[in-house]
Amino acid sequence: MINVVIFGPPGAGKGTQSDKLIQKYGFVHISTGDLFRWHTKNETALGKRVKEIMNSGALVPDEITIAMLKEELDKNPKAAGFLFDGFPRTVPQAEALDKFMKENGSAIHHVIALDVTEEEVRSRIAKRRTIENRADDEDEKLNKRIMEYFGKTIHVLPYYEKQNRLKTINGIGSVEKISGEIAQALDAK
Ligand code: ADP
Repeated sequence: MINVVIFGPPGAGKGTQSDKLIQKYGFVHISTGDLFRWHTKNETALGKRVKEIMNSGALVPDEITIAMLKEELDKNPKAAGFLFDGFPRTVPQAEALDKFMKENGSAIHHVIALDVTEEEVRSRIAKRRTIENRADDEDEKLNKRIMEYFGKTIHVLPYYEKQNRLKTINGIGSVEKISGEIAQALDAK
């Protein structure tokens, strides 16, 4: 079984495509955004530490994020394959993920990057905001999240590209077309 990272800016369609991939391949889905939202909603100690940071649209410090991720991996020792969504967002996170996978005799096999322009992302999130009412979808916070992505997170791509693990997929088009292209990339040797 394979381990996959799905990568892209906020609003790229990572969540939608993750659902499709889970159905098709049976991945254990690890979304650090969902995990942080669970912690803040349930007011855990971790949730209290990250609430303000998340609501500002900034990245949670690596130390906290990596520790939470590791805990989640340890909860799923028998997973046939993982789908990482929203992680890694920094190079230290990518290095930590490789280390954890290696310790379990495994690896990250594919990184699927959804390529979507900043303009498209902004228009999609404006629509989503009216439906989901996510606290971090407000203008100022949204700007911060987009800046975090195009300023910091995007630097993770060369890390994977150098190791030949990166597959860039055009994230604009129908959900089916995009999921078909992702499946093709995962099924290719
Ligand atoms: P997006 O809309 O960008 O897909 P997510 O739902 O993945 O957002 O994450 C929401 C928020 O959770 C981020 O803005 C950030 O504050 C925090 N977060 C999630 N994953 C990470 C990570 N890997 N590193 C740091 N912060 C993270």
